[in-house]
Amino acid sequence: MQKILIKNGKVIDPAQEINGEALDILVQSGRIAKLAKNIKTDADTVIDASGKIVIPGIIDMHVHLREPGREDKETVASGTRAALKGGVTSVLAMPNTYPAIDSKESIGLLKKIIKDSGSANVFICAAITKERQGRELVDIAGLAKAGAIAISDDGASVDDENLLLAAMRKAKAAGIPVVCHSEDKKLSNGGVVNLGLISTKLGLRGISRESEYARVERDIKLAEKTKAAVHIAHVSCRESVEIIGRAKKKGIRVTAETAPHYFSLTQEALAGYDTNMKMSPPLREARDVEAIKQGLKSGVIDVIASDHAPHTENEKDIEFDRAEFGVTGLETELAAGISELVQKGILDWPALVHKLCLSPAMILGIDRGTLKAGKPADITIVSAAQEWLVEKTVFASKSKNSAFLGRKLTGIVEYTLCNGKIAYKKA
Ligand SMILES: [Zn+2]
Ligand SMILES: [Zn+2]
Repeated sequence: MQKILIKNGKVIDPAQEINGEALDILVQSGRIAKLAKNIKTDADTVIDASGKIVIPGIIDMHVHLREPGREDKETVASGTRAALKGGVTSVLAMPNTYPAIDSKESIGLLKKIIKDSGSANVFICAAITKERQGRELVDIAGLAKAGAIAISDDGASVDDENLLLAAMRKAKAAGIPVVCHSEDKKLSNGGVVNLGLISTKLGLRGISRESEYARVERDIKLAEKTKAAVHIAHVSCRESVEIIGRAKKKGIRVTAETAPHYFSLTQEALAGYDTNMKMSPPLREARDVEAIKQGLKSGVIDVIASDHAPHTENEKDIEFDRAEFGVTGLETELAAGISELVQKGILDWPALVHKLCLSPAMILGIDRGTLKAGKPADITIVSAAQEWLVEKTVFASKSKNSAFLGRKLTGIVEYTLCNGKIAYKKA
């Protein structure tokens, strides 16, 4: 197998407390063979990374690849290509596909698709309940055995408290985390934007903040009872950050994630009824964005994940009420993190890399997320100061519904290595 030498990049690897030192990385047989100053060796390929930042491949633990069933939106092939372009080498695929990933058969089907067409590492999140209907648990132990590394009914919360309690107990026994889409749909009441000034102004039905934080509170209560590993997905409002912070102080086993749109955008972005600003949970207020940033800084929020949710033009280019919820994110998450967090002094580079790479690896039990010798060579090389304009034409994803369209972001991926191969190189 190819020997690749990455020369002189500024390496950021929080697992080894390396913060910007100029180092060489030797990649051999799919793994990181050596990380040191000035490695002298013959290599088949030498990449000059002078002036570039070198980080572990990003692990995005919240991605909708849409296959099987909605290949018009995205496929494992297009989604993993988009991932690599964004510097993401591993994704956790959410189970709201058709069929849902709720049986050994559907896991088998997805595994085959991944093997045949995936170009990045795809890990499988199985559903909590059959067809994600919230009524009957899947065979959690069996699906974990078949390869699911987490469970979630993402897109919906499990309303039945006793059912979720039982699911958490079984997930704990199987050694996998429960990812909670914390939303009380009775309280979100068919809303499409944040409830408040913006819903009144636009004449649209509002989603209350309580629909999120009341459910976060309940999910954490169950985490405390069961001592299962519970991960709160896409935190969007201040109250949720506070509740999670208090739970962590109490020693409850909970982790949390947010997505770039929640630390970059407020509900004001909806002024023109732009359906690319429609997602669940919705964009909130400036005070929420501030709380999310502070939550990232303080460590209350462990992970940045994209909640990559591709939709076709037909599903977005319609009246606001009818448009689908969700935005793409694989190709903008690193740049959004650099632009909104590192450049604005909220996080330093190691903290950003921790949230994009190391934390998700630890939560999911994936033996990646670091550049330690011996680990699989998943490596992202970034021109960290380069600005680019987010346009529909740049995306490798099948769908173009990005909340960052028309904006300039800083930081562009030059190379992505996945399992020791150059899987993406900027044109
Ligand atoms: Zn969700
Ligand atoms: Zn999602």
